[in-house]
Amino acid sequence: MQIYNTLSRRVETFKENEKGKVAMYTCGPTVYHFAHIGNLRSYIMEDVLEKTLRYAGYDVKRVMNITDVGHLSSDADTGEDKMLKGAKREHKTVMEIAQFYTDAFFADCKDLNIKRPDVVEPATNCIPEFIHMIEVLLEKDYAYAAGGNIYFDTSKLKDYYVFSSQTEKELMTGVRDDVTEDTNKKNKSDFVLWFTKSKFDDQELKWDSPWGNGYPGWHIECSCISMKHLGEYMDIHCGGVDNIFPHHTNEIAQSESYIGHKWCNYWFHVHHLVDKNGKMSKSKGDFLTVSLLKEKGYNPLAYRMFCLQSHYRKPLEFSFEVLDQVSGAYNKLAAKIKEIKEEGSLDQAAFDSYKEKFVAALTDDVNTSMAITILYDVVKADVNGTTKRALIASFDEVLGLDLLNAKLPEEKVADAELTAFVEAKIEERKEAKKAKDFAKADAIRDELLAKGVEIKDTREGVVWKLV
Ligand code: AMP
Ligand code: ZN
Repeated sequence: MQIYNTLSRRVETFKENEKGKVAMYTCGPTVYHFAHIGNLRSYIMEDVLEKTLRYAGYDVKRVMNITDVGHLSSDADTGEDKMLKGAKREHKTVMEIAQFYTDAFFADCKDLNIKRPDVVEPATNCIPEFIHMIEVLLEKDYAYAAGGNIYFDTSKLKDYYVFSSQTEKELMTGVRDDVTEDTNKKNKSDFVLWFTKSKFDDQELKWDSPWGNGYPGWHIECSCISMKHLGEYMDIHCGGVDNIFPHHTNEIAQSESYIGHKWCNYWFHVHHLVDKNGKMSKSKGDFLTVSLLKEKGYNPLAYRMFCLQSHYRKPLEFSFEVLDQVSGAYNKLAAKIKEIKEEGSLDQAAFDSYKEKFVAALTDDVNTSMAITILYDVVKADVNGTTKRALIASFDEVLGLDLLNAKLPEEKVADAELTAFVEAKIEERKEAKKAKDFAKADAIRDELLAKGVEIKDTREGVVWKLV
């Protein structure tokens, strides 16, 4: 398997710590609001990575946290707690909000055929583990207390900025949009491990600790939860690119200081889904969700296909025009597959040859668009129906598009009366256009649309359909 590693900034040959076993960790959602389709792009691509590894014969153990405490409005320890913000918005408790949006997240995952990780652990389940790690960091002199909080001392590390050749200044901008300098910090890049004093002292969830009643910083949770379930050696850690700094940088700093050796070998980052206004983000409030796509009549799996058609290392621009095209392609492909009948016996040589190509595409740094091209090749191939259906089912273990069972939209058919009406109107519009009465022509188009009829001018004349 070839995989791009953000740590080395190169595509590398994947080598697991323990032969055949892969320890994989994913930063889970902050459950103060619905996941937007940008978050879900990351989870779709990470799902494909996990399924690719399994398909290629690895035994994967995947762990994900649920962030239900400690994530502040700015990723860099300032601002209001996101969970509290959600609770205030909806006049509920933090735990009610956490439960509701965790359930909503997994419902979205189900709609998108994203497999649930083997272990899912909310941060609030692991407070004793966080306290233990912080105690060890203090003992080892990697952390210090100041102003009631415990901070990680980044000046103790030879190379804190492990991910990037960018300058410190470049890294700071973009993620620290609401920076207010914390005067307790010895160094600008130090980060909070445990809070007892925050500007926002109405934090709802607090726990006793050796440093007083308080709550953990965001970064510590991923280090502890991953080690709790995967041990001290991790193979792949995933997240969206915004997690690279400061979150993953801080995770590495505290984890490696705690265990005293290299922690994780491969860092897999999914680039952002953007729209014409830029990165989609929950804090902007107005964002697209899977439920909204469903309300608008889209099959969530068409959105999965939309994501799979581009590479995870490129930003992806969302628009409804492109989603419409992909939905059309999804339905057309599903309709073609429906026509493929079981006939003949499995052609093992053809099966193996297509499967080999499919695996080669996916193990080439998760080239999903090439994998879909191979799926199209199978549908067109000169092999019997039994072999085609077996290949499509097999590929679906990774692609998760459910094409063999897709529910196709029912074709609407116009009755004779409506057909006669539409044709008369089209004739009338033709006359109006001839007489250069474009206002009338447009009015007829609108009148038809109001009746659920869409007309289109083509070189072969006017065509129409029910919408
Ligand atoms: P959050 O719920 O904010 O903690 O984010 C959950 C995951 O979504 C993280 O891995 C983020 O890096 C990722 N993410 C956030 N915004 C986007 C986006 N616009 N496109 C893709 N992934 C994103
Ligand atoms: Zn994380």
